Amino acid sequence: MSNSKTPFDIVCELFAAEGRTHSFAVSNMLAATSKRAPKPRYWTGNPGHECNVCHQNWGKTFVDGATSMGPWANMCTECHRRYGRGLGEGKGQRYEKQPDGRWLKTGG
Ligand SMILES: [Zn+2]
Repeated sequence: MSNSKTPFDIVCELFAAEGRTHSFAVSNMLAATSKRAPKPRYWTGNPGHECNVCHQNWGKTFVDGATSMGPWANMCTECHRRYGRGLGEGKGQRYEKQPDGRWLKTGG
């Protein structure tokens, strides 16, 4: 039988030495893992300002997404609501203009 300890065993022992419980160790490790926030994603370049569908200025928010007609488009939120296929992988991403002029991905 191997007697080697995993890093998790060692953490549990450390917590046990402090009078902590096993479940405390688990929740603590999970909290540490979930703290790794995803990096902010920005639109590269300039997406313009005009909705590909209705040709209105989309203001501070646009969606790069698939339409119910098939092709992808950069569109205003109104057109996305009408013709879009939702947000998410393979469906669409929402971007919002930041004070520094860059477009930050805020959904999808
Ligand atoms: Zn539009």
